Amino acid sequence: LNRRLAAFGTTIFAEMSALAARTGSINLGQGFPDTDGPAEIAEAASRAVLAGLGNQYPPGAGVPELRTAIAAHQQRFYGLSYDPDTEVLVTAGATEAIAAALLALLEPGDEVIALEPFYDSYAACIAMAGAVRVPLTLRAPDFRPDLDALRDAITPRTRLLLLNTPHNPTGTVLTPAELAGIAELAVRHDLLVITDEVYEHLVFEGSHTPLASLPGMRERTVTISSAGKTYSFTGWKVGWITSTPELVTAVRSVKQFLTYVSSGPFQYAVAEALGLPDSYYEGLRADLAAKRDLLSDGLAAAGFQVYRPQGTYFVTTDIAPLGESDGIAFCRALPERCGVVAIPNQVFYDDKSAGATQVRWAFCKKTEVLREAVDRLRRLA
Ligand code: PMP
Ligand code: GLN
Repeated sequence: LNRRLAAFGTTIFAEMSALAARTGSINLGQGFPDTDGPAEIAEAASRAVLAGLGNQYPPGAGVPELRTAIAAHQQRFYGLSYDPDTEVLVTAGATEAIAAALLALLEPGDEVIALEPFYDSYAACIAMAGAVRVPLTLRAPDFRPDLDALRDAITPRTRLLLLNTPHNPTGTVLTPAELAGIAELAVRHDLLVITDEVYEHLVFEGSHTPLASLPGMRERTVTISSAGKTYSFTGWKVGWITSTPELVTAVRSVKQFLTYVSSGPFQYAVAEALGLPDSYYEGLRADLAAKRDLLSDGLAAAGFQVYRPQGTYFVTTDIAPLGESDGIAFCRALPERCGVVAIPNQVFYDDKSAGATQVRWAFCKKTEVLREAVDRLRRLA
């Protein structure tokens, strides 16, 4: 493995899901639902396969039906208008979109300011691009971005900001005022912004504002999303970007050499999913909000300090009240102690001290699974 990537090892999600499988534990680590999305959308996928839709290489930008549906979704929920032919690109999940965007837009040595704790592929992809990550640390208990710290972090080498809202793992949803502060700095310093909005429909308090909807931002922002979380089909790996023709063309130049295309028949199914009625999105949010509360209350009862999230699949806790000081050691020992798997947030921080005692739990699981996990966690006290 080359020097750029040697430090990264195996992703924490693979390590912890393997630990869960090996020990037969409840897996509240990796964020994926234990119930598939709507049956009608699964049927749309199988219909596409049987009808011969997408069984051969789809077009490089994605099938027109899906690009049109993505543009319609941005218009319907946010009033943002994108041309499906030139301003939308379908990718192999948000993961490929992140990689292709960073590889397309960064020169070696460029600095990227990213919210920390960061989703694990951000650091690895910035390293693949030969660029330098500069963390903007979200700190407990509120996990809000410090705009003065952001201003101070910008240098002549800063090329882009990498945002994520709703934010994995903290559950922070950036407010319109925070986004406006970030946008003002981006415009003033002529920065590009990549914004990862895969949890856009999983907001329990407040609402999701896409950065691209702020004045001056549409032309400098690459917005990323994906079907995995919104429709509970994380294995389908259908993601996308929306941006200007120039930025979409740049990202596509990289994407063509990473996967070329992917997920042919699933693209048709996701095109249908994007048109689901408002009641679908409201039901998804209500279901996950109730699960957030169930798990958050259970973790609090088990003695954890709980940072109740505003969005996403995840609740972050602090293990210090249990007399613990090392989240990684705690998560490695947890299956043995009580048959539950969680993720140590420390691996998402450069500032290890900021995340040493934080542990993340996924609540995108069946209610009875969450109840059983909470019962098991009570044994820790
Ligand atoms: N970004 C964030 C913040 C995530 O949590 C995830 C995991 N779903 C991804 C990107 C990757 O999404 P996908 O599965 O669509 O590649
Ligand atoms: N996004 C998921 C999480 O944060 C995991 C995705 C993955 O395994 N790469 O848990």
